[in-house]
Amino acid sequence: MAQNPKSIPFFITQNRVFLSLLIIVLFFGFSFTKISIHSSGFEELQTTSFDVGAIPIAEITIPIDVVFAGYNEDYIDLTMMNNGLRTSVYYLGVDYIWNEDNQVYDSLLDLDITLEFNFHFTTDNYETELDSFIDSHSWNSNTSALNATQLNLQESTGERQSIFYEQEGRAIDGEAVEQYLESNRGFISADPSYSIYFLNQSRFDTTDHSFEHWFEIDEVDPDSNATTDWWRLEWDNDLNPDVEFPYPCWGYQNRIFFADPYCHQWYTKWTDIWWNPDIVEGEFDYINVDLDTYLAGDTPGTPDFITHLNTYLIDYLNDIVSDVGGRGDGLLYNQRDVSSQVLFINDEAAHGYSEEDLQWIYHEEIMEDAFEYVVPQEVANITFDDTWVELSEITDLEQIVDDSKLGVAELGSYPWYRADWTYLDGVSIFYGFEAIRDSYFNTSKGDTTFTSWILLLQNVSMVAWAYGEYREFTGLGGSGNVVCYKDLNRYYATDGTTPRSGVTTLLVHELGHVLGFAHAEITNDAVEGTGGFMRDVMSYYSEGTAYFSVFLKDSLYRTSSQVVYNRNKPAIDGYRENPLHNITILAQIDQTITEGVTALQSMNYLEAFLAFRQLYELTANLEEITPTVTSPTGINLSVIVLLLPIGTFFIIQKNRRNRRQ
Ligand SMILES: [Zn+2]
Repeated sequence: MAQNPKSIPFFITQNRVFLSLLIIVLFFGFSFTKISIHSSGFEELQTTSFDVGAIPIAEITIPIDVVFAGYNEDYIDLTMMNNGLRTSVYYLGVDYIWNEDNQVYDSLLDLDITLEFNFHFTTDNYETELDSFIDSHSWNSNTSALNATQLNLQESTGERQSIFYEQEGRAIDGEAVEQYLESNRGFISADPSYSIYFLNQSRFDTTDHSFEHWFEIDEVDPDSNATTDWWRLEWDNDLNPDVEFPYPCWGYQNRIFFADPYCHQWYTKWTDIWWNPDIVEGEFDYINVDLDTYLAGDTPGTPDFITHLNTYLIDYLNDIVSDVGGRGDGLLYNQRDVSSQVLFINDEAAHGYSEEDLQWIYHEEIMEDAFEYVVPQEVANITFDDTWVELSEITDLEQIVDDSKLGVAELGSYPWYRADWTYLDGVSIFYGFEAIRDSYFNTSKGDTTFTSWILLLQNVSMVAWAYGEYREFTGLGGSGNVVCYKDLNRYYATDGTTPRSGVTTLLVHELGHVLGFAHAEITNDAVEGTGGFMRDVMSYYSEGTAYFSVFLKDSLYRTSSQVVYNRNKPAIDGYRENPLHNITILAQIDQTITEGVTALQSMNYLEAFLAFRQLYELTANLEEITPTVTSPTGINLSVIVLLLPIGTFFIIQKNRRNRRQ
């Protein structure tokens, strides 16, 4: 089990070239470096070594239209933007296999994504109409704001605190604005592209910030239909009631992402404090203060104002593009039949809730819908099965749970230790269950099997070592196997009977990791968080959705199309060089490759994947003619080794991207 190496992108800022034409090159270069990646916190689990001698690199170029609506064109310094924007995202080992002999991952393919920016300014008329639309799709309301002092106190003392207070202002319907922008682009796009809008609705705000504005997104748990009004884990308690989720930016399934940096929000301030103890003061201002606060001392139009404005926007944009267009995660090979099996392990004897009482916590049809979007039928047939067992009747599972109990001696400095509570070592349970997986699941069903264990226990926390201490988490996944755990108290409102949140979104999220997805906040959960504002089940912030965004779906097929092409390329190259090759077969192969490249160029990543995947069939029989060439075979998804569970169980990356000076 190891950290997903794809979650460690390297960023290289280059001089950018303006090209309105989309160019996607399947360029294969070579790299001769041996790279070791170590992540802190889980050294024993997550030391990932790559042996990357002479591995191919796939290069992809992605156009991004940046649209300013409500900004004075004279104040946007495009030269500064061009110099400051991140234009390259490099992913090591988007495909790799475990080398048993050397105990390293052999990289098979790196991915180098080039981002090309085009800038646009909307007209006054467009902005007037947008304002008018927003006037009629917004209302006065209250939301949550972060009490940074209290959160810092909790961080330093370990004592739970009340970390939110109320913020008054204007709530804008975020979903309506997305639809409006989709129908009213406000610029001529060099289609296809991703569009990133910078909006400015600061007209709603008062100078003392007592009245702010934000985008409001429905956060409803799909199992309980209850509105999400709690923040996760350590804050899901009476100290933090009625939590609200303001959004400063937003994107879903339209290849549009809009941001209003003047908005009120609290999430990236929370990530800044909770996930990043050593942040450099002033370096990440865009996640700490809104733009009007940032510009407060400057007179519009002065050199300082322009420098500050553009610096802020560049940082903001750099964060967004890596989550939206610069993704290289997700991985599919040649699977056609995928089986997802869930085992619910109930402990009615301990908490009194029967299987029948708990049926509401899981909705198979939501799982089907979520995966139908991201892995449609034409890619693979996914079937879902679930089984319920009683923990007290299954002695080997019960034994593993009992053996995983951590006492006060092992927990040592765990700040929230309670004598009346049970603490389980999540890693020990994960490996314990995984070892007997075949006894509880039909692992030969389909050509890939995902297995999920849902433990239904009460007054129990699963903990793991992270950030130099034990922390709670709710899910753990790797090798196609997932263990989900959420204390039973969190399923219900305080009355113990009103459903609050089920397990469907948790399961979709964990299975998303099994597909190879990193979190929506892909770059670095600790430093940059705007990706968390996208509507995606892989987001940490978005609590209500069970669905995937277009940005992750694109990434899945963009990356996978390169992977399947690269997997088949040696056989094709060998065949081409063989004087005995059949011209008709070779023409068929070349036609298929052309179809794939054409689809990539028009950003039809799913079609590109389907085209390149046909190469598996076309190369399957080449071996008979060219015995010196080994035909590649599809490999099981179980080689996608991940440890990116949700909860506070996450990974600090030592390899930070190079930041612009
Ligand atoms: Zn996760």
